[in-house]
Amino acid sequence: MLSVQFIGISGSRVGPGEETACYAINGSILIDTGWSAAVSMQAVDIQPTDIDTLFITHCHQDHILGLPGLFFANSRRKQIRPDAPDLDIYGPLDLPLSIEGAKTLLRSKQYPQCVPDHRVTLVYPGESVDLGDLKVDVGRAFHPLDARAYRFTDTSTGASVVFTGDTAYHEFLPEFAKGCDVLVHEASSTPNTELSTRQRVLHSTPQDAARVANEAGAGELVLVHYAAENGQVILDRAKADFPAAQLGVKGAKLEINGPGQTEWSYPH
Ligand SMILES: [Zn+2]
Ligand SMILES: [Zn+2]
Repeated sequence: MLSVQFIGISGSRVGPGEETACYAINGSILIDTGWSAAVSMQAVDIQPTDIDTLFITHCHQDHILGLPGLFFANSRRKQIRPDAPDLDIYGPLDLPLSIEGAKTLLRSKQYPQCVPDHRVTLVYPGESVDLGDLKVDVGRAFHPLDARAYRFTDTSTGASVVFTGDTAYHEFLPEFAKGCDVLVHEASSTPNTELSTRQRVLHSTPQDAARVANEAGAGELVLVHYAAENGQVILDRAKADFPAAQLGVKGAKLEINGPGQTEWSYPH
């Protein structure tokens, strides 16, 4: 089984009812914590205590702000789910600092119950994490902070989905995403952004995302982490180079039942 729920797809500044980049895999794995993942995930019928594993792409504010909220919402984890495992958290080099920050904010020395039992594991490009039914490969991203891309593969069907996280185009990305069924690629630089700005912030345009999708031979491309007002122009630019592109939609659910077998459902 390989399912993706799009909890948030917005850029770093979210408007009313929006959530920044944050996704759930198979209802129990979370990729990044958005501004407020613990609240936003309930809109797609996932409870914060359902999450057993967390993958952080990088520790920029818009990807990690929701971490103290997720911890706090797990205060009664063991009472609500007596058999719940400790929370496993994987991520880049800055991860321990962000976790310490979340603990400080929650005053965990005085209120230890506010931070669920957890394990922190730093992961590096080229490594993989075995989650039984799923294999998670760790890839490079090219961003001002140490950052990761992740590839989730259903070990029984071979179906796979890749999340780039925030990144500029780099030559390792198509290789990492090679033959994936769905590529979830950031497109937070508007198509007309000056190159110098893009070089400074190290983000991707929709053309960059389409280039990766083409070079990787991805089945479908989902553009995420974009400002709502730029949605149409971003989609048009990506589609010009890669017709099987679509905009990520908050609340959408993707099921990949086997290689090339995708099934989408959207919120009403
Ligand atoms: Zn970032
Ligand atoms: Zn970001």
